[in-house]
Amino acid sequence: MTKQTKNHTQSYYLDSEAKKPHTCLTMADKKPLKITKIVIDRDLCIGAATCVTIAPGTFQMDAENKAILVNLEGNDAETILMAAESCPTKAIFLYDEDGNQVYPR
Ligand code: SF4
Repeated sequence: MTKQTKNHTQSYYLDSEAKKPHTCLTMADKKPLKITKIVIDRDLCIGAATCVTIAPGTFQMDAENKAILVNLEGNDAETILMAAESCPTKAIFLYDEDGNQVYPR
């Protein structure tokens, strides 16, 4: 089964054949996406916590009410992408295995 989510610029498809976490397909290139690096800009984070609500296995709030990365493999790639897309200040940056920034684009 193929699952689809949308943002303002691109659609992403979950790779139903992929067994590994952090793998999904982009509509643009149909290439499996692996999120291998996540950066949270603490200066941009306003503590809205939507990232934690969507991907609690990956993000948590710290004592300063800023999001922190707790486990790079805490959620699948699609969920992490949705969490990053939900951030009102675009404080979450995602990178693929080639070091390319995949979100925000
Ligand atoms: S959604 Fe963005 S602003 Fe809100 S806690 Fe997460 S990183 Fe911070």
